Amino acid sequence: MQDEASKKEARKIGVAMVAGLVIGLILHFTQMGDYSKYVAPIGTIFIKLLKMVIVPLVFSSIYMAMTNLGTPETLGSMGRKALGYYFVTTAIAVFFGLILVNLINPGIGAELGSAGLSQLSGDMASKVSSQNGLFTTILGVVVDAIPSNPAAALADAKVLQIIVFAILIGIVSLYHREKAKPFSDLMGSIEEISLKLTHGVMRLAPFGIFALMIDVMARSGFNAVSSLSKYMLTVLVGLLCHSIFLMFVASVRLKKSPLFILKSLSAPLLTAFSTSSSAATLPITMATVQENLGVREETAKFVLPLGATINMDGTALYESVAAIFIAQAYGIELSLSSQIIIFMTASLAAIGAAAIPGAGLITMSIVLGAVGLPLEGIGLILAVDRILDMFRTTVNVFGDAVGTIVVDSLLDKNEVKT
Ligand code: ASP
Repeated sequence: MQDEASKKEARKIGVAMVAGLVIGLILHFTQMGDYSKYVAPIGTIFIKLLKMVIVPLVFSSIYMAMTNLGTPETLGSMGRKALGYYFVTTAIAVFFGLILVNLINPGIGAELGSAGLSQLSGDMASKVSSQNGLFTTILGVVVDAIPSNPAAALADAKVLQIIVFAILIGIVSLYHREKAKPFSDLMGSIEEISLKLTHGVMRLAPFGIFALMIDVMARSGFNAVSSLSKYMLTVLVGLLCHSIFLMFVASVRLKKSPLFILKSLSAPLLTAFSTSSSAATLPITMATVQENLGVREETAKFVLPLGATINMDGTALYESVAAIFIAQAYGIELSLSSQIIIFMTASLAAIGAAAIPGAGLITMSIVLGAVGLPLEGIGLILAVDRILDMFRTTVNVFGDAVGTIVVDSLLDKNEVKT
């Protein structure tokens, strides 16, 4: 459980974040935002170091979790529980979003102003316009998850493909233990080393987070916030409601106070907030749930990488609110059936979104396309996307951590090693 050292570490990260935020805002409002370029590389280095650990850590930990689970049945049981949790909580998140956006109606009377697809960068615009409808999306996610070349998947850090490959060779290894022994030993060693490396990188977290906050705030400040304030408020209130729900679930399952859980998870949550990437946060989440919340190693190793890749409650909620906001802003009436399609596609788009900054904005086009809303609408919400990304990523990571707690508590004592 959480020791003094990790509490101190979390406090340092909190202080660094607030200090970065304040300094960034001062630079922004004194027109000195350009100076942030001198600290920005520290943030970039921090994110790159975290990303560096992802591939070896995900590959080795999923594989080791599989071989340590002992039987394909235990694996199936854990997988079913994890997927069940992802499905139910993502649906609840979207539900919160839909209720709030229909109550607050942030898009009615919103000014379309200068917003438009022209605001999208060329690269993003081409990604957005190449998206398709619901059926193609489902097929696309499944087909995309299968690696045709595992080495390429590892090289390109395609996390879902890496997970599929690790699961497949993990299953084969369960049936051929003797043959797999040298490979398992190597994977065990890679896993240990990756975790040790993660601890090293975590020591840099206060510096990295300080620099990232200065950079984001100095460049964007709270520009555009006022014209989109009702929309932002809807997303933020939705995220807050969902976080309270997740906190309740975690509290009940762990039999611990919400404050204890919040403190225990502060390092991954603050890292998620400042990096806007569930994938970059994964190594920290992985170490924290085991060390501070006592989640069993095998559960954390299997459930977290999967969760970071496909379980995005915050993104799903944000996508449903954004789609309806855009419809309202364009004065388009959405029938109940369209809202149900939004409910389904927002959940799917979140599964398909990569765990990197801004990914949710790109998969927005799946939701818009499915109900025939103009893709140009994405331009409307672009200005505040980075800020909302910070909050939704925090909720994504919180959902992953709570999922690990829930799955761990649902497994029989003898199903998983301690
Ligand atoms: N940045 C989010 C994440 O990494 C994905 C998104 O853009 O919603 O979890």
